Amino acid sequence: MAPQIKYTKLFIDNEWVDSQSGKTFDTYNPHDGSVIASVAEGDKADIDLAVAAAKRAFHRNSEWRLMDASQRVRILTKFADLVKRDSEYIAELESYNNGMVMNLAHRFIGSCDNSIRYIASLADKIQGSTIPVDGDLFSYTLKQPVGVCGLILPWNVPVLMFASKVITALAAGCTVVVKPAEQTPLTALYLTALLVEAGLPKGVINVVNGYGETAGVALTHHPDVAKISFTGSHEVGKLIQQAAGANNLKRVTLELGGKSPLVIMDDADLNQAVPFAAFGVFTHQGQICIAASRLYVHSKIYDKFIAAAIEYAKTIKVGDPKDPKSTQGPQIDKSMLEKVMGYIEKGKQEGAKLVTGGKRIGNTGYYIEPTIFVDVKDDMTIAKEEIFGPVQNILKFDTLEEVIDRANATDFGLAAGIFTSNVENALQFSKHVEAGVVWVNTYLATSVHAPFGGFKGSGLGRENGFDCVNAYLEVKTVTMALPKKC
Ligand code: NAP
Ligand code: MG
Repeated sequence: MAPQIKYTKLFIDNEWVDSQSGKTFDTYNPHDGSVIASVAEGDKADIDLAVAAAKRAFHRNSEWRLMDASQRVRILTKFADLVKRDSEYIAELESYNNGMVMNLAHRFIGSCDNSIRYIASLADKIQGSTIPVDGDLFSYTLKQPVGVCGLILPWNVPVLMFASKVITALAAGCTVVVKPAEQTPLTALYLTALLVEAGLPKGVINVVNGYGETAGVALTHHPDVAKISFTGSHEVGKLIQQAAGANNLKRVTLELGGKSPLVIMDDADLNQAVPFAAFGVFTHQGQICIAASRLYVHSKIYDKFIAAAIEYAKTIKVGDPKDPKSTQGPQIDKSMLEKVMGYIEKGKQEGAKLVTGGKRIGNTGYYIEPTIFVDVKDDMTIAKEEIFGPVQNILKFDTLEEVIDRANATDFGLAAGIFTSNVENALQFSKHVEAGVVWVNTYLATSVHAPFGGFKGSGLGRENGFDCVNAYLEVKTVTMALPKKC
């Protein structure tokens, strides 16, 4: 049975409201393209109201600003309890609106519990320092919330992104306006209701569903927004940085995906490397920013690896995300289906060898066969651009030196991995590869406890980890004259 849809409006100043224009847009189930619900469509007028509410809630005398930090911890921890209480429903809703297979939805929602509690626990550990400056002066720092934050979410992992961005901003003491991705507004709305149930004061969280070109642009250009945190495409990331510089110099955190290299050395344990390489690129039908979408395999094991990779890909069960046996669901929407199929065509045209998959499955929903290209060359489009689909690209290499240079020959720098039994290979690769996250003999192992973010075109700043709240704080230095003698 389909999960019940409880919230479809905008959430502004503690009220569920229609948009000012009265417009709505449909949100879909990627399994069959059917309409799930009509959702209020916000634009600039609604963003203006939401930012004004967040600004009021950020006033120095507001309930939120006067609240003890330990109380912020309690509210956010209560939110974690509520997410746990409703985890089955949230997982079903995520899967229904996003096409994520239930197994993965359970894993992600489960990991959110950890993430929310960890980030919440940082709220009362924000400390400045005392500084031994020269002269008869006393100097110390205060770390203070930056202000109203605009949080722009992607559609690929909506609950995880909400948990990471919203809870970090709130732990820091900021107020927020959230714009969920147009494709996946439903879990963000439900989680907002849980934050209110947990006791978040009026105006601290506001959610405006809508399109990037209208609501997103209004948020990134708003003079009362102090910071934008965004996860999504490289192209939009660049627009956001321009918008941030256009008026009030907003702070920005950007997570912009990648073209992550995974290297399989000739001394790797293939029983480990083959399934991890598949897991790294086929998980969530390839719709993850850290997908291992350039797989460099050593020439000595190239043919053997390919045979095993094809065999492995054939074990992937593509089907209805509700079915517990499915390990791959549909792409998010028609446009992403077409985009991925376009890359597959391009791969064939440019001379890569298709060894398995390559076709759409059926005519309803947005399913694509797990696809493997071999003999991929570095200058082919499929080796350069983020595909965001179930497409494994296998490239051949001969030496570690060579593969490090080739791995780094990209504007991206989010993640990288190596499978090897030689610790020197592991250390050399980890040191020289240009990526914010590096895995050795594993892949996709992320944790809220460790910083996450990209080098180069993959982003700006880091999320998660002990320092994550700093991205939502300003540092203020206070210096006071001391009496010369006492
Ligand atoms: P996108 O356009 O970058 O969307 C991400 C978010 O930004 C959405 O909420 C979107 O609104 C909003 N947005 C779009 N244009 C904006 C603008 N000018 N100003 C402010 N906000 C704006 O990504 P997409 O179109 O969904 O997917 C395109 C590609 O992005 C994918 O093929 C994939 O390569 C990449 N991607 C990467 C990640 C990641 O984890 N790094 C996640 C998702 C997608 P809408 O609701 O209107 O889209
Ligand atoms: Mg979009």
